[in-house]
Amino acid sequence: MKSIPIKKRWGQNFINDKNLIDKIISVFDPDKRDTVLEIGPGKGALTYPLSKRVKKIIAVEIDPILVSHLKENFIENIELVNDDILRFKHTSIKKGYKIIGNLPYYITTPIIFSFLESENWSKMTIMVQKEVADRIIAKPGNKNYGRLSIMVQAQASVEKHFDISNNLFFPKPKVKSSLISIMPKNNLKHNKIIFYSIIKLAFQKRRKILKNSISNYLNDENIKIFGHLRPENISVEEYIKISQSCINNKKVLN
Ligand code: SAM
Repeated sequence: MKSIPIKKRWGQNFINDKNLIDKIISVFDPDKRDTVLEIGPGKGALTYPLSKRVKKIIAVEIDPILVSHLKENFIENIELVNDDILRFKHTSIKKGYKIIGNLPYYITTPIIFSFLESENWSKMTIMVQKEVADRIIAKPGNKNYGRLSIMVQAQASVEKHFDISNNLFFPKPKVKSSLISIMPKNNLKHNKIIFYSIIKLAFQKRRKILKNSISNYLNDENIKIFGHLRPENISVEEYIKISQSCINNKKVLN
């Protein structure tokens, strides 16, 4: 096999362990009827074994050299797209598809948020830095609970499956990874902008109690219930409730 130059700027750390590939595919739980979008197939470590278990894989890879390499080994149900996943029009894929990927870490959160904007996928199973995974799944009171946890959990159910040693990749990354799944749910239909503003403001002033940071967003009832609390002690459902009550709140709308 020709040697392919590794581009660090594209977060290229390839899986180097068959056991890990089997475990990821088993968690993903593929079905013969599935259409799967793979983010960053690299040299095909997940793509080839998964292609035997699903109907179709659309694999979006930014590196043209890796795409030509994958094209040398043509497999009928793998569609290769040479594109940046953040520009790729995933909204054109038929509703209900699943997403898999060992994500390029430099754009983990933009990728997650770009997919949370659309509702046509059913599940995303991805490898991300352990530290990011811990923030995504954190619950109130946990030191990792913050804007990322709340913004993702308000729009999806999240699950962490297992941590992954950095020894199982080549080249070896500096940090550990985790495998997580994200399943979208539509909680924020009408008030995403208000919701995002509340979370941003509350966590900009993390040490302050809510009546000193987001008082404009709290009606009299919510001042009583939440005003004396710090942002890390409010649950995702409570933030949703606060933002919903803003729809009729003149202080916010003016
Ligand atoms: N899936 C392979 C594996 O597990 O061995 C490769 C994973 S590697 C961590 C990330 C892959 O995403 C690389 O192949 C990289 O070239 C690709 N990539 C990086 N940025 C991308 C982008 N913006 N859009 C699509 N692919 C990208």
